[in-house]
Amino acid sequence: MASLGVALVTGAGQGIGRAIALRLAADGYDLALADLASHSSQLDTLKAQITGLGRRATTISTDVQSESAVVAMINQTVQDLGTLDVMVANAGICKTMSLLDTNLSDWEDLFAVNARGTFLCYKYAAKQMVLQGRGGRIIGASSVVGKQGSAMLPAYSASKFAVRGLTQSAAAELARYGITVNAYAPGAMDTDMLTSIHQALGDVNAYTQRAIDNAPLGRLGTGEDVASLVSFLASKDSSYITGQSISVNGGRFFD
Ligand code: NAD
Repeated sequence: MASLGVALVTGAGQGIGRAIALRLAADGYDLALADLASHSSQLDTLKAQITGLGRRATTISTDVQSESAVVAMINQTVQDLGTLDVMVANAGICKTMSLLDTNLSDWEDLFAVNARGTFLCYKYAAKQMVLQGRGGRIIGASSVVGKQGSAMLPAYSASKFAVRGLTQSAAAELARYGITVNAYAPGAMDTDMLTSIHQALGDVNAYTQRAIDNAPLGRLGTGEDVASLVSFLASKDSSYITGQSISVNGGRFFD
């Protein structure tokens, strides 16, 4: 199959990002796989899986908090794969703690990755796409708690509201270049991040069951549930959709 273009996924080493990378490769994209240096072996494994699907792939060690690292990530993508057509700013971190226990450093850590990191990925991906002159797709990671706040996640929730505001503003500005900008807003998805939230709350089994009970569809979500939405948002079929943060939450919260 001819390539549909090049997609760059941050936080591709595990969880939702890994599922998105595999789905976009199956759809026909070549993949730039980015994550922290600590995840390089996971990226190597994923690269082998993607090249096994007949697609090109490159791995990039990055830290999305750093402007110079994000610029280098975009440059390496173009150098190794020739272009950038789909940017998936997926990388994120979570800290589970009450408002009363949240220190300024916790707030700043969360905003440095979830808000600043997403901003940098949007900005430098958009610059590359504008330079190429044939549009593109930018997709970010918000959350159900980017739509409705939650106890024990005040700074994380605020950082995911920031992703929605950024997504709407970028969509308004970049439409004239043929670039759409959307986000996914997952509920409780079965990844390491969710396990760490439930561990911090105290009882993994009890909180996992509560998350299942809170979703009318009666299960946790998976990375593949998010990946199928990203597949659509990356495709030509989504060309009249921009500025949206689309829920993938099993019915836990209705917009
Ligand atoms: P995860 O913790 O399993 O994976 C996150 C990945 O991001 C890891 O590979 C990690 O190394 C990478 N990462 C973290 N900081 C980084 C940085 N500074 N630079 C580059 N990479 C970095 O998380 P996940 O569950 O797969 O979540 C993916 C995204 O979806 C996150 O933005 C998260 O906030 C969001 N989300 C997850 C859930 C959920 O229930 N799992 C729900 C809503 C939103």
